[in-house]
Amino acid sequence: MCNHAHPSRRDFFTRFTQNVLLGSSILRIAMHRAAWAQALAPGAGADLFDIQKVTDDVYFASARPSPVINCNAAIFVNSADVLVVDAHSKPSAAAALIAQIKRDVTPKPVRYLVDSHFHWDHSQGNAAYLATGNKVDILATKTTKQLMEQYAAARLQASLDPAGPAPISYPWVGHQMEDLRQRIGKATADEEKARLQSLLQRLESFAGEMKNFKPSLPTITFDKSYVVKDKNHELHLEFHGHAHTAGDVVVFCPQKRVIATGDAILGSVLPFFGDSYPKAWPKTIADIGKLEFDHVMPGHGGVQHGHETLNGMGGYIEEIADRVDAGKKAGQSIADLRQSITFASLKSLQSGAYADSLASWAGGNKAMRMGYVQSGIKTNILEMYDKVERV
Ligand SMILES: [Zn+2]
Ligand SMILES: [Zn+2]
Repeated sequence: MCNHAHPSRRDFFTRFTQNVLLGSSILRIAMHRAAWAQALAPGAGADLFDIQKVTDDVYFASARPSPVINCNAAIFVNSADVLVVDAHSKPSAAAALIAQIKRDVTPKPVRYLVDSHFHWDHSQGNAAYLATGNKVDILATKTTKQLMEQYAAARLQASLDPAGPAPISYPWVGHQMEDLRQRIGKATADEEKARLQSLLQRLESFAGEMKNFKPSLPTITFDKSYVVKDKNHELHLEFHGHAHTAGDVVVFCPQKRVIATGDAILGSVLPFFGDSYPKAWPKTIADIGKLEFDHVMPGHGGVQHGHETLNGMGGYIEEIADRVDAGKKAGQSIADLRQSITFASLKSLQSGAYADSLASWAGGNKAMRMGYVQSGIKTNILEMYDKVERV
């Protein structure tokens, strides 16, 4: 992280996140603070992704921090073509990954794109795959397609509106741009002004690209499973139950013992509950955990090895959902629960692989980790309060 060496930048981000990002309660405050600091570091931004080999024919594209976040992608190289899992927050990001795959992984064409779930940061780039000129099938559950039809365009429009209410499950881009413009007007130091302008420019470029957005919907849908059979391996697209959303799919390769999980299972970051089924989610994770894999490629955070981290994540979801549920039934408000459900009181976060994976975020910096986890717990309580009993 560059910001340890630049106090002025850290101060800027502290003020910035307190005053701007807090306006949108769904944002992971600390995560974004670090992400934006990194995104503005000198030399950042040449590539949007870092691609690593996970095992034979399987690659992981880790999304670099960006003012409007992108998800990671999983890349499976088949005998004659490629399957990619997830399509980021905008077509230009997906197009950049397509080019990077061609340059760094394989000249084979992408033939299949999987939308792990309907969220904006996993599906708004779909159009870039259709624009390649190659035949591409976009695969998702029927539920994911329905949710995209219902929410994708409406939520994006709400996010670009500076005057409307804070959108659900979305960064409030319009509000952030408005706030930045005011700050640029008031900024006196040149360095701060330049940083604010750079941030604004990135958000404006996102807003410009997405102005007339219509979702490119999945072209092949299924209820429970769909198998892509190839000479190299089989890729099993499987729905294991309600979790992060009503339609999450994982992509499991039994021969290579790897799984791509979208946001149903994450590495190094807390779950997002805005569209979730908190009571069902741990069971779904446990069911996915019965599959035989060695590596997990999550929608956010790094590759996880073994099953311990996902078990720990399931444990955290179960514990916090049980406590929010019990408190709500006892008449406690969100504010009450934010007082009583603290980091120190959550057993699932004290030790084990999941706690370690959260600690590894921010390079193990303890203060940043605590800030991130503590604000994330508060956000999680808010996100799940109205839906905690959903199964
Ligand atoms: Zn998601
Ligand atoms: Zn996501």
